[in-house]
Amino acid sequence: MKFDTKVVHSTLHNRSIKSKSTPIYQTSAFTFSSLEELEGFYEGKSPYLYSRSGNPNTDELGEIVAALEGAPAGVAAASGLGAILAGILAVTESGDHIIAAEDIYGGTYQLLNEELKTFGITTSFVDFSIPEEIEKSITPQTKLLYSESITNPFLRVENMDAMVSIAKKHKLVTMIDNTFATPYLMTPYSKGVDIVAHSATKYIGGHSDVTAGVTVGSEEVIAKARTKVINLGFNLSPHEAWLTVRGCKTLSLRMKQQCENAAELAEALLGYDGIKKVYYPKDAAEKGSGAIVTIELSEQNDIHRFFTGLSWVKIVPTLAGVETTVSYPQGTSHRALSQEAREKIGVNQQVVRISVGIEDSGDIIQAFKDAVDSSRL
Ligand code: PLP
Repeated sequence: MKFDTKVVHSTLHNRSIKSKSTPIYQTSAFTFSSLEELEGFYEGKSPYLYSRSGNPNTDELGEIVAALEGAPAGVAAASGLGAILAGILAVTESGDHIIAAEDIYGGTYQLLNEELKTFGITTSFVDFSIPEEIEKSITPQTKLLYSESITNPFLRVENMDAMVSIAKKHKLVTMIDNTFATPYLMTPYSKGVDIVAHSATKYIGGHSDVTAGVTVGSEEVIAKARTKVINLGFNLSPHEAWLTVRGCKTLSLRMKQQCENAAELAEALLGYDGIKKVYYPKDAAEKGSGAIVTIELSEQNDIHRFFTGLSWVKIVPTLAGVETTVSYPQGTSHRALSQEAREKIGVNQQVVRISVGIEDSGDIIQAFKDAVDSSRL
């Protein structure tokens, strides 16, 4: 099956009652009629015991994303950060060292830089656009190379081939956050990346109504990641999983329209009076370059006026819904970074991240031109 067919036919749990849509198993636990039957769970004869350790809806989401990524297994988590944590803890332990791209999502930066330190896992943040920088940072403790397929917020397309070849040479594990690209554009596992994580809160869910995450990889790695989800208690709820699966069915249609609109918007804003820089990758993938456009306003434009000048486009600290929205990296996603770390990657007070929706592209372009015009000092 081609991707566009697979994504629509992704309902897996058609059981004895053949409903078209998977029922929501809104239950905290499953029942047993004998101790033998209960014991059967531990012997692998029945799949479900207690929803924190497994539920048909959360399993369905994990399996669907694994299938779309071309990976053998997947596990859902309560958020994208949860999925990233599960993937990392599946392959690292106290004393290990991670090398991460310096221009990743601020929340992941915080997870690596603050929380994982308390687990005894340290991280060096380096410029992944220079592969030699990665190699220079490898120590005997290094276990994992971590990046994003298209980075947040400057949309640098990661050189995954270089990452994988460095990892092979030094016997390291690789992990990619594929949130911005989605498997519609890129499938890092098929390029040799070991673990692929998603904030399914974004394009996989697609409607800004769930917080969810998925990690995919080999059966062995995902079994370990699942153990982390269970033991640390960040499992996804059945209802959230169900909503995410429902949203995922239209991933191809949404991404197609959103990528086209984003390419048109990037082109229209390039060189527009009041816009200093437009960040939008060129030919990131065969089917498009993603649906995020990041801009930097010129010094002659007031950022507050720009935001209030956006007529119907709302300021929302997330991305990937069907509506076009804007976010302010310095004030939200990258707030936790030091001023110095922000400056190094280029996040400043004039930077705006646009999540392009499925609306009419002419309306989107006009809304941004009007806001830029209204922000001139
Ligand atoms: N990865 C990327 C690229 C993100 O942009 C985000 C959130 O914005 C996350 C991970 C974290 O996802 P969640 O908010 O679902 O935990």
